[in-house]
Amino acid sequence: MEKNKILVVEDESELLVLYDEMLHDDYKVLTSGTGKDAIEIFDRESPRIVIMDIKLPDMSGIEVTKYIKDKSPDTIVIAVSAYGDRLKEALDVGASTLVQKPFIYKELYTLLKDLTHPIDATAETKTVMNIEGSNFIPSSLTRTAFDAVIENMGEGSLKILLKRTGLERYIGNLPPQDESPSITREEYTKLIQNVFYIFGEKGARPILYICGKAGFKHSLEDNPALFGVAGVAMKLMSEEKKKKFILSKVLKRLEEIFGNPHILEEDENNLYVKLPVCPYCKGLTSTKPICYTPIGFYEEVLKWATGKPEKVEQIQCKAMGHENCVFQISK
Ligand SMILES: [Zn+2]
Repeated sequence: MEKNKILVVEDESELLVLYDEMLHDDYKVLTSGTGKDAIEIFDRESPRIVIMDIKLPDMSGIEVTKYIKDKSPDTIVIAVSAYGDRLKEALDVGASTLVQKPFIYKELYTLLKDLTHPIDATAETKTVMNIEGSNFIPSSLTRTAFDAVIENMGEGSLKILLKRTGLERYIGNLPPQDESPSITREEYTKLIQNVFYIFGEKGARPILYICGKAGFKHSLEDNPALFGVAGVAMKLMSEEKKKKFILSKVLKRLEEIFGNPHILEEDENNLYVKLPVCPYCKGLTSTKPICYTPIGFYEEVLKWATGKPEKVEQIQCKAMGHENCVFQISK
């Protein structure tokens, strides 16, 4: 199969070399250091994606973006700049997404590398990443859990749950829907344990499942840069690649939040998420898998990435005595 063409417009030649190294395995990489040259190459080669630096020596990247989008509305333009306000202009003339420049070396580098090797990138990140992070769960996740209890069992039940978990401070005072720190990881685990204790396995199941689904919706809102860039990156991928790519992204984020490894593995037919430490069933025993929150979360993630319903099955659970919690996703 012929490779997709990608045009990189950037006047820093070192950066051009870097882009080329990252991309040339999977794309035919075209490069340009000026706007005028970029337009010429675009007219001749019709690349599918353009990475556009806004600040060019001869003309503005905004003008070039406008030219490209007018001529070929389907072309994906990723605008890159150190100046936030100019990025807004790029969006106005049709750029698909924005990457602000201090961000580029870290985020865009990872992103573009993931385009070619999603799973390897995760493995590599794992070895260097500090997964300790903050010991506090973001407010939006805590709020999502509380809302799921109210929705399924009513406000009175939430009150009982909060009292039992030692979280009286949230009675009549729900945490905000944002990234500010809320309860500790230990409290989050205790909260889930008490959901099982108070509502039983049958009652806990829909609460925790909905909690996972809604949790992803809020992550989308809270991380527009991550999902905006990922959405554009995935447009050209096969369904299997999309799944691997988005899972590697969200698992990394979940590792930061919960401070435990989220390992992505695969065999011929399936992808697997493996949790050697599981915040969703810690201290619980069961005869069947009970980690419903991540199931809801992963299903929603995959549906967002592929545009169709996806089924995630938990095939091992620490609550049943297995060594890991393992979730299976068909490729
Ligand atoms: Zn578990």
